Amino acid sequence: MKINKDKLADFIAAISEQTVYAPQKRGEALVFAPVAKGSNVNLAAANTTIPPKSVVFPQTETLLRFELGKTDLEAPVQEGKAVMLGVRPCDARAMVIVDNVFSWDVDDPYYLQKRADLTLVGLACLEPCVNCFCSSVGGGPASKEGLDVLMTDLGDGYLLEVLTEKGQTLCQSAEGLLEESVKEDKDAAEKLHAAAVNKITRQAPDTGPIPAGLPRLWEDPLWAEVSESCLGCGICTYLCPTCHCFDIQDESEGCDSRRCRTWDSCMFPEYTLHASGHNPRPTRRERTRNRINHKYSYFVDKFNVIACVGCGRCINLCPVNIDILNILSKVGEAL
Ligand code: SF4
Ligand code: SF4
Repeated sequence: MKINKDKLADFIAAISEQTVYAPQKRGEALVFAPVAKGSNVNLAAANTTIPPKSVVFPQTETLLRFELGKTDLEAPVQEGKAVMLGVRPCDARAMVIVDNVFSWDVDDPYYLQKRADLTLVGLACLEPCVNCFCSSVGGGPASKEGLDVLMTDLGDGYLLEVLTEKGQTLCQSAEGLLEESVKEDKDAAEKLHAAAVNKITRQAPDTGPIPAGLPRLWEDPLWAEVSESCLGCGICTYLCPTCHCFDIQDESEGCDSRRCRTWDSCMFPEYTLHASGHNPRPTRRERTRNRINHKYSYFVDKFNVIACVGCGRCINLCPVNIDILNILSKVGEAL
């Protein structure tokens, strides 16, 4: 299938029985936000600052409401079906990785319901950013993993590759706006995908020996060196599409109360602070070591996949230029 760019607004209108999310500017940040009825979207911008995980795993989420002194618990109403347009392939892969966590020991109904209700329409990355390294950690600029439809920008229009039943259903609801694609369209898309791979300039070192090798570097001086300038701001984890840690707290205003969960970060000292005052990760050295071990060793042990998709956000957005690829290179050299 393909669609002309001048029909994109009609496409959005045709599927807008569901909430349609697309990248939009919010101040300096590009975020996925609901598209107002009748408006168009610009999918040409770079990848979003805040990854699409924020739609299925919001930064703050009410788990239940209650009134102090009473025993009734009120569950929040789930939001219903949604479509995300223009999701980058790395971020779609990240959602598949995070699914492991929310369906592992106990199914998380909040996350899993939103995931089941969500259709992901991806956009192949034809101009990878300077710090993207998806192709060296199992992905690629036109990876299909986790997507229901993959779009490729062909200039005047988009080629739509339908990948799942959800994608099929979505395209059927806008059938009159789509045309059959021809072989030349697919050939053009394949060429663009191959060219995009060649535009990626950064690579992770050979990740093969890293998961098993990291525990041997537990006391290596490299951790003090790579964490020396860290401010402990947590940006690298908050904005990472595979980071999924949260805290749960009860809040009250008068008798009205709610239990909510909010994103947490292993880069914060409070994350591991015990009630006794002891902290097993007392400095940024231990916290940085944990961040890398979690993504490149513990997660591989548990779920057989590296919890990093090479989106480059933690490199682009770290205020003191701490670079996960430099850390991985030092790890590779030390092994
Ligand atoms: S973004 Fe940079 S400074 Fe902030 S916690 Fe992460 S590594 Fe440290
Ligand atoms: S660790 Fe960095 S590069 Fe890897 S997925 Fe997270 S933000 Fe992206």
